[in-house]
Amino acid sequence: MSQVIAIVGANIAGASAAEGLRNRGFDGRIVLIGDESWRPYERPPLSKDALRSGEAAAPRYLHDETFYDQQKIELRLGSRVEKIDRSRGVLVMNDGDEVAASQVLLCTGTRARKLSVPGADLDGIHYLRTHDDALQLAKRLSPSARVVIIGMGVIGAEVAASAVGLGCSVTAIEPADVLMERAVGRFAGAWLAQEHIRRGTSLRLQTGVGRFIGHAGRLLAVETSRGERIEADVAVIGVGVVPADELARDAGLRVENGIVIDAAGRSSCPEILAAGDVASQCNFFGEQVRMETYTNAYEQAVAAAATMVGEPAGYSGVPYAWSDQFDVNIQIAGRTRQDADMTVRGDPASGGFSVLYQRAGVLEGIVAINRPRDISGGKRLISQRWGGPAEILADTATDLRKLKQ
Ligand SMILES: Cc1cc2nc3c(=O)[nH]c(=O)nc-3n(C[C@H](O)[C@H](O)[C@H](O)COP(=O)(O)OP(=O)(O)OC[C@H]3O[C@@H](n4cnc5c(N)ncnc54)[C@H](O)[C@@H]3O)c2cc1C
Repeated sequence: MSQVIAIVGANIAGASAAEGLRNRGFDGRIVLIGDESWRPYERPPLSKDALRSGEAAAPRYLHDETFYDQQKIELRLGSRVEKIDRSRGVLVMNDGDEVAASQVLLCTGTRARKLSVPGADLDGIHYLRTHDDALQLAKRLSPSARVVIIGMGVIGAEVAASAVGLGCSVTAIEPADVLMERAVGRFAGAWLAQEHIRRGTSLRLQTGVGRFIGHAGRLLAVETSRGERIEADVAVIGVGVVPADELARDAGLRVENGIVIDAAGRSSCPEILAAGDVASQCNFFGEQVRMETYTNAYEQAVAAAATMVGEPAGYSGVPYAWSDQFDVNIQIAGRTRQDADMTVRGDPASGGFSVLYQRAGVLEGIVAINRPRDISGGKRLISQRWGGPAEILADTATDLRKLKQ
């Protein structure tokens, strides 16, 4: 049998891996299998432009329609892989069909974590992960809508900003005392909380959800953990995601909060690899982590493609992500540990500043708010494990892109 590579999960990681295989001259068969009905598309716009423009009719595709034929990538949409039969080397599909493969790449991503409080299945309660979710939500975000956001992590905060922009009346509930703490750290998270309030979001910090109140199956209000009743037409739950790792688990692969892979992308079974949101890998800082970012999905997938053609290069990039809320651009590189020394560069009151994190003088992280130029330099310095005085970083006359060790 000529080489057959089956990729499960047809989105950012899956499509990038398929493209990467062809770019590296792989001339065997590539089968790209996805259970959504859309060909691979960008998720980041779903909480931003797609909601704001109110016309989420078609997703922003990664490639045009002809790409897959031209590249001889067999794209099977609306198809679900139910099982990996390792003993026979086949994938078993939901329609009973089987795909024999010499190597398998799992790019199955994540699913929205469901909230289990009373009333969580009422009509009017939404999650946002897929384009179909965005279509449903966009229909509900009319200017008169009263919207309650549950969880002000990245997705919740982006939806809140989009809904405010659409003229909705937005209340947001967040158990922590700052926003997006995991992604941006406490300083920028506190600044963002103020920014959301300034732009019109009514924010309840250190507050959870008690229950959803409805009538005839339809959402009427959200009752917070503090007993407050907030009238609502729409609630959007953004309380994180869970890895779609059941295929790997059933196949007996090592799974610990995602499919554990080595530096080359291989799972505990070398013929099965994983990439993207579902994969857990040792990162630049030597931490075993599962990242939930676009850049990681792309870069891990390209690295897995290299491994599958026998040219393992490894990947342990500096973590990077971005978010856009209102007209605020947020970019994050590295990590923002609480035990690190923090330096603020620029004036937060001006709306443009960066926060830099050093441990023992070594730069480990940067969060740039409306300062995109800081991020490319900052990311390079982190990758070089730059060490130096905080004063240099704080001085806005220093161009981080030109800074040397
Ligand atoms: C609303 C939203 C906004 C975002 N914004 C940003 C942003 O601004 N910046 C940023 O860095 N990141 C952002 N992200 C995160 C980024 O989109 C993800 O990191 C990225 O989509 C991960 O790609 P992936 O291919 O690993 O997984 P996914 O995109 O989740 O794709 C996995 C695919 O596999 C399919 N699948 C699962 N199981 C099976 C099976 N058994 N058979 C067949 N198919 C299967 C799934 O249905 C899905 O289509 C955002 C995510 C969302 C949801």
